[in-house]
Amino acid sequence: MVKLISYSHQSINSSDIRAVTSVLKSSWLTTGPWVDKFEIQVAKLVGAKYAVAVANGTAALHLASLAAGFTRGNEVITSPYSFAATANSVLYCGAKPIFADVDPVTLCLDPKKVETKITRHTKAIIGVDFGGRPANWKKLREIARKYHLLLIDDAAHSFGSKYYGKRIGTQADLTCFSFHPVKTITTGEGGMVVTNNQKLYELVKTLRTHGIVKNPNHGIKPWYYEMKELGFNYRLTDIQAALGLSQLKQLNRFLSSRRKLARRYNRLLIKLEAVTLPSPSDESAWHLYPLRINFKKLGKTRMKLFRFMDRYHIGLQVHYIPIHLHPYYRKRFGYKRGDFPVAEAVYEQEVSLPLYPTLTLTQQNRIINLLTQFIAS
Ligand SMILES: *Cc1c(COP(=O)(O)O)cnc(C)c1O
Repeated sequence: MVKLISYSHQSINSSDIRAVTSVLKSSWLTTGPWVDKFEIQVAKLVGAKYAVAVANGTAALHLASLAAGFTRGNEVITSPYSFAATANSVLYCGAKPIFADVDPVTLCLDPKKVETKITRHTKAIIGVDFGGRPANWKKLREIARKYHLLLIDDAAHSFGSKYYGKRIGTQADLTCFSFHPVKTITTGEGGMVVTNNQKLYELVKTLRTHGIVKNPNHGIKPWYYEMKELGFNYRLTDIQAALGLSQLKQLNRFLSSRRKLARRYNRLLIKLEAVTLPSPSDESAWHLYPLRINFKKLGKTRMKLFRFMDRYHIGLQVHYIPIHLHPYYRKRFGYKRGDFPVAEAVYEQEVSLPLYPTLTLTQQNRIINLLTQFIAS
């Protein structure tokens, strides 16, 4: 029986299971001491002062956007080459996402294109570290400084990545991680906002639980709390945080397996006709292996490749359908094909090959051989 290989997969071991069951046997399940520990350890790892664990990566982006003060009339420049959640978080706040095209090599926001989109309504820039490769934060920071904008990092792909030797987490004013099962580490569902800014931290933390503040210096009434903002229930549970802490212990192993497999793909696919390899990086967390195949040149279709690989129980994925081409965005903002040519051209060619820490070399060889066979046929 051939095992199904999907484009990504969580890596769970017996320590993870023990960590979760120990919390299940305790007297506290939701946000408690394990969440506190998880936040402290993530903040320490990425070199940020503050961290707030939340229910998922989208919640992290939503709360970061609210803390950044996005509101009606604001424009926020972001990448069309991402998961819809990036731009949706701007819409949740009543502000307008403005897309700028991506760099054809890194697939992250092209700072030059960002600058052409700035108006007097621009409030912030949300960069995406595509596939784990950090966006051009140096240039984005320069732009943010020049025009007094806030920077948010959608770091859903880049937990553990480094940027000029420093972990992703402090390049932007607010950084948002996801702990979805396909991401670097998982809590089932989960996310985290990290920042060095105390005010932003306090806002995010309050908004995570209904905007409620306990003991706001209102005497000694033990039952007292106040709702100060319109917040949400975006809490992470202690069950999830225990899993996160256990996963964190394996981070270096996860990162090095992903990096090794990505390097190996690059080495063994370089001779294939009509492919563009992801540019090498030892700092990327390698969330994805985004191969590009010029299907037109091959006279084949991507659909045919998907069907071919599926016959051998190998799952592929495409990252991403550009956000502006989703029906909702087309209908609401009038976007159309041709608006962001780089993102659209990459989308036509992109195929994410399976990449996750437990992918074996035998499995990887099989993927490489089948892909070679498909391209040569
Ligand atoms: C996964 C992901 C998100 C959302 O994270 P969830 O935890 O699934 O809510 C946001 N942005 C990008 C780029 C992602 O890949």
